[in-house]
Amino acid sequence: MPPHDPYSRIASDNYRRTIQGNVPTNALLRDYFDTCFRDTLEHFGLYAAWCCTNCMRNGVASYGWGSKPSRCPTCHQFTTYQVATFNAWAAPVGAIFAAAVYFLLRGSYRVPLVDTPGNTKTHDFEVTSGFVIEAKGSPHQVANPDGSFYELGRPGMERSDTEKKAFANATQFKMRNPNAYYAILTNALPPRLLNYRNATVNAIFNVTRVEELNIFMRDIVQNVPNIEAMRRAEGL
Ligand SMILES: [Zn+2]
Repeated sequence: MPPHDPYSRIASDNYRRTIQGNVPTNALLRDYFDTCFRDTLEHFGLYAAWCCTNCMRNGVASYGWGSKPSRCPTCHQFTTYQVATFNAWAAPVGAIFAAAVYFLLRGSYRVPLVDTPGNTKTHDFEVTSGFVIEAKGSPHQVANPDGSFYELGRPGMERSDTEKKAFANATQFKMRNPNAYYAILTNALPPRLLNYRNATVNAIFNVTRVEELNIFMRDIVQNVPNIEAMRRAEGL
């Protein structure tokens, strides 16, 4: 993790405030990830908002928080547009989710994971070159400054595009590393992906659930025989 980017700062601050010194529970984990998402959207001013372009053209400001009304309340034209969309949210929420996973796994589970070296884009983290982790998470909703909530729908692996991307990354990685272990970590997954395991994606875990994190830890210990020596070397 680059030590000074906003994601590392937000994730490490929230880790210290929410989880450090506690045994993780599902409630604490949910709170941790939710707070990380919220602080990141706040940092970038990434709220749900709309504006009317017809009013703008006439030098009039007509805008508001949340979902756009179909007609502008000022000029009554159908020229209202949503300002931030999934494309604006995707990169920042993906980056903060990865950073939050990093601090949680190192801090509470003593996982000696590191950023994937070089220009490899198929996964975010490695424990070893044979045990790699892709983080795919996004929030359920955006909290706006007026106190309203904008539902994003299909968070994490519930979004089919996100699922396709993660599985494509796994396939690409496994072509060169057929015997490696490829894990996807997410904050939301559809029921049909619960306990999913195959030769390409070895497992998918919801990191907001302690029981799934415990299974993930069992897989790490089974697949990384020298984990204790690695933990000592990393000071974990
Ligand atoms: Zn208008």
